[in-house]
Amino acid sequence: MNRKPIFAANWKMNKGPSETEDFIKSFLSKVQGQTFNSEIVVAPPFVSLAKLADLLHTATAVQNAHAIQTAAQNCSQFDSGAYTGEISVLMLREFFVHYVILGHSERRSIYGETDAIINAKLKKAREANIRPIFCIGETLAEREAGKLESVLRTQVTEGLRDLSEKDLSETVLAYEPVWAIGTGVTATSEQAQDAHQFVRSLIAELYGQDTAAKIRIQYGGSVKPNNAAELMACPDIDGALIGGAALEPQSFLDIIRNGTQEA
Ligand code: PEP
Repeated sequence: MNRKPIFAANWKMNKGPSETEDFIKSFLSKVQGQTFNSEIVVAPPFVSLAKLADLLHTATAVQNAHAIQTAAQNCSQFDSGAYTGEISVLMLREFFVHYVILGHSERRSIYGETDAIINAKLKKAREANIRPIFCIGETLAEREAGKLESVLRTQVTEGLRDLSEKDLSETVLAYEPVWAIGTGVTATSEQAQDAHQFVRSLIAELYGQDTAAKIRIQYGGSVKPNNAAELMACPDIDGALIGGAALEPQSFLDIIRNGTQEA
């Protein structure tokens, strides 16, 4: 199965509009004239989405720039109303957002997002035709207690509850072991491949072999230029969700280059 790898930069709470502009200009100048056999996504903070959309629109018109897709880092599970501080999927659409990261471990652990809330957000994203990057992953304690598969099974089953096969075809999964996020500790390629293979088998159970064979599963957790190639060589790993190492244009580009092939 030929799945196009997808490399997504999750900037978290870093880079307002001016730093976003610096990054994108530098990144575009580095990739000018090149195309890759992969999809490239940038997820800035909400306040930088307008700047990003603007820059990409201009760049595409002027220099036929490499297509970068835009992602939000979160969305509300509600449509509108008295939800102070929240952003709806319809608002995101105004910024030409293609993807939204949902279920990130920081949202789960710091903001108490449950599988049910994440499921509601996934549904909202799909209603607005935005593609979820749906994150799952176990803590170190869960892994050491032998609960890796049961944790992943619950997150996948509950998170995807009532989503259709069509929704799944527009969804990207991101396996992110919590113990590897922002720690500098990466899962070995064997650990990552085993987890990805298990997640793919879960999707096959829930949606059938065909959907499972097509869905892209990113790995996330301390991906760097020097470990991208080995991780991306695993048969069930289809790209990466990258935090720290995607804050610098050269490092993000090196991950994409090392993890994929130029077209
Ligand atoms: C992330 O935040 O999704 C992530 C994988 O971060 P880092 O690459 O810094 O571990």
